[in-house]
Amino acid sequence: LPEMPATSTEARKQHAEISDRVRSYNEAYYVNDEPLVPDAEYDALFNRLIELESHYPTLKKNSPTQEVGAAPAEGFAKVKHARPMLSLGNAFSREDIVDFLARIRRFLNLTAHSPVEVVGEPKIDGLSLSLRYEGRTLVTAATRGDGAEGEDVTANVAHIDDIPKTLPDDAPDVVEIRGEVYMARSAFQKLNETQAETGGKTFANPRNAAAGSLRQLDPSISAKRPLRFFAYSFGELSESLAQTQWDFLQKVAGWGFVINPLTRRLNDADDIMAFYDELAKQRPDLDYDIDGIVYKVNDFELQLRLGFVSRSPRWAIAHKFPAEQARTRLNAIDIQV
Ligand code: NAD
Repeated sequence: LPEMPATSTEARKQHAEISDRVRSYNEAYYVNDEPLVPDAEYDALFNRLIELESHYPTLKKNSPTQEVGAAPAEGFAKVKHARPMLSLGNAFSREDIVDFLARIRRFLNLTAHSPVEVVGEPKIDGLSLSLRYEGRTLVTAATRGDGAEGEDVTANVAHIDDIPKTLPDDAPDVVEIRGEVYMARSAFQKLNETQAETGGKTFANPRNAAAGSLRQLDPSISAKRPLRFFAYSFGELSESLAQTQWDFLQKVAGWGFVINPLTRRLNDADDIMAFYDELAKQRPDLDYDIDGIVYKVNDFELQLRLGFVSRSPRWAIAHKFPAEQARTRLNAIDIQV
């Protein structure tokens, strides 16, 4: 890995240059749905920022590492999220997972070997969406935006069959369900073929096709796109739905939401690594893109005690699948900065 700059002036200069690049990549990715660089290259830059900040903590101020996504795009009505929609910390190795579990135990004052049950969910490479139901009727669908405020895409989800438009009688008055909008790989290929034939815009990957299809100012365009939805979380609730993430998922599955069938309960780092290897093997055969696995502490009471650090929960982490290009790209960055 590139060495740390020897002085804080050099570090600040490097941090400012990388921050500018990350911000322009954010704009291209989150606002225009047209990434300028592969995720691996973006991740390498982002991690370099984190590394610089761990040596020079004052650099955290006004850093992209403290921000979520990007502000809502022009043209959309804005929706203020009742609960913020955040990002996730990343893990890349067994060591990172062991650290994650150790941090949790320390924070909760648990002994080194006490079990901490987590739920492992495939990390779907789409875009997150918050669905608000009042009186058991869908009233708003909003993108994450900058985490505090998202784009109103209510009309655009009308034709997504995986999104129930009403909830059953046992659902509380206010319910916000969050999850990932995505496009199946097969549907993405078909869409790109049709777009190419008709002179329309083609997309770099299923994630951008999903984002570009949902974030349309004209809902009739979204209506024609084969979008799907996995539910995995919640925002505001007027009544609690469950005591654990696992039970929450079963509950909303009963209401007609689609939950990912590969979701698993896991008890320690060995369990986690075995699941990781298993999913990594299955990854090429799935009809949707996953870029890792998200582990969430199963017990909501523990989640509440663990809380958040800046832009991500302390009780969850995204275990990313390896990106082959990362190392060589990082060398390229090294030369440029
Ligand atoms: P993230 O993707 O690391 O993690 C948070 C997101 O994970 C959530 O918002 C949600 O959308 C998604 N997710 C999928 N399945 C989930 C599940 N089961 N539970 C919870 N969340 C789930 O964070 P981020 O801030 O959205 O994005 C950062 C990532 O986006 C980077 O790692 C990078 O790969 C990519 N990115 C790429 C570029 C580029 O130029 N290529 C630019 C910006 C961001």
